[in-house]
Amino acid sequence: MRSQLSVYNSLSNTKEIFKPIIEGRVGMYVCGPTVYSNVHLGNCRTFTGFDVIYRYLLHLGYKVRYVRNITDVGHLENDEEMTGEDKIAKKARLEQVEPMEIVQKYTNDFHHVMTAINNLSPSIEPSASGHIIEQIDMVKQILKNGYAYERNGSVYFKTIEFAKKNEEYGQLSGKKIDDLYSDTRDLKSQNEKDHPSDFAIWMKAHEAHIMRWDSPWGVGFPGWHLECSAMSTKYLGEKFDIHGGGMDLQFPHHENEIAQNMGCCGTSPSNYWLHTNMLNFEGVKMSKSKNNSILPHELFSGENDLLSQPYSPMTLRFFILRSHYRSICDFSDKGLKDAEKNYKSLMSALKSLQNLEYIGKEKVKDEDSEINTLIDMLTVHMNDDFNTPRVIAVLFELMAKINAFKNRQLKINSISKATLKRLKTTFRAFVEDILGLEAEVESNDKALDSALNILITIRKTARDNRDWATSDQIRDELLAAGIQLKDSQDGTSWSRI
Ligand code: AMP
Ligand code: ZN
Repeated sequence: MRSQLSVYNSLSNTKEIFKPIIEGRVGMYVCGPTVYSNVHLGNCRTFTGFDVIYRYLLHLGYKVRYVRNITDVGHLENDEEMTGEDKIAKKARLEQVEPMEIVQKYTNDFHHVMTAINNLSPSIEPSASGHIIEQIDMVKQILKNGYAYERNGSVYFKTIEFAKKNEEYGQLSGKKIDDLYSDTRDLKSQNEKDHPSDFAIWMKAHEAHIMRWDSPWGVGFPGWHLECSAMSTKYLGEKFDIHGGGMDLQFPHHENEIAQNMGCCGTSPSNYWLHTNMLNFEGVKMSKSKNNSILPHELFSGENDLLSQPYSPMTLRFFILRSHYRSICDFSDKGLKDAEKNYKSLMSALKSLQNLEYIGKEKVKDEDSEINTLIDMLTVHMNDDFNTPRVIAVLFELMAKINAFKNRQLKINSISKATLKRLKTTFRAFVEDILGLEAEVESNDKALDSALNILITIRKTARDNRDWATSDQIRDELLAAGIQLKDSQDGTSWSRI
């Protein structure tokens, strides 16, 4: 029997068979970064987790619309209580630049890091500040439906009234309405609100607030939770398949998103809520505010006292995928060192596999069924809520076989031609297309390769002009420097000696 994809739905706290609303298509929304500083390794963990989910859905043949936003307004310093200064506006004030300069700088950084670790671009990457009209419309609709009230230029969501009518409120975070009261200590705007757990969907902008827009309630800015409701509805409709983000967003951000969508459109937005667990450092969530974050470029250059050496982007990716997305991933230098070693052996097995050729007649097939079972297990594990650590473990079992074929401890004709073909195709697809791991050319070698190609061209011109002295000088001096040139019918290549 073919296994079916099942996903852990935070809404029901169970694994469920994944069934999209429209057959063959998937709409997926993932909360993106707040671009007020560089992304850290924790953020990379979450976005890589969803990248693999996206890649696997594509591999299964779904047509996926993957929307991941950029938060460039409305995320206040104290995000649970929605008080304090806007994170981006504060950074702009401190650095004496325009808020949009902060947004551009850190969006560029985010994209640069995502490309380095081979995360695919989403289908749409909307920004909150580009969707103020949609957010205002949503506030209007929530007011019209009686789930919000205006107070001194701000608009608040009526949580108590909503919870009374909708038992779903609190279901995602598992919080009871009493917990909601005690978890919300928004003292600053307490006086203004009917109840402490009510949250702002539109906020009045005070004089000093630079990011401000006109609205029916005066000059203000949208609440952080509202942007995701407005943008997911705009690009994926009132009901879509998957909503994702880090577990830290489950409450209040995602709980309030559900309330807003229901308050506006009468329906909970997403069928499946997927949450990635945290990347921790010494048992504590890595975060900008806790000042324990390690930045990708520090990892890639090794410039951080916690690191014994630099680690490449692919080592980071492999390190992240060795943990299941719902388990805590503990950052450690030792873990990265181990990941580096394993990543390299996996990529070298992939290379050896592609070079394996079938020799001999099809006869002894004693490895055939074992290898086919291992290949099947790759899909079984990936279908089991995207279990990448199990997939990696099976790839390693297959790697042992590949190495045995290469070293001739196992005869290649102990499997059939068809099985070798299947092994080549599936192993490559899981390593490259699904896990997104790619071979790394050492940057030193890249630069060296370009420089040597220039010398090879100069030497060729010299030879064409029968200038043997120059041609020999280039060859001999390179040899003395440890580089051997080899001439063949296809041209000249180089290798280290
Ligand atoms: P932020 O830029 O803080 O809004 O976060 C962007 C995304 O990264 C959100 O989905 C967060 O849940 C996620 N995130 C933040 N810190 C961590 C962490 N330490 N581990 C995993 N994911 C994180
Ligand atoms: Zn969001």
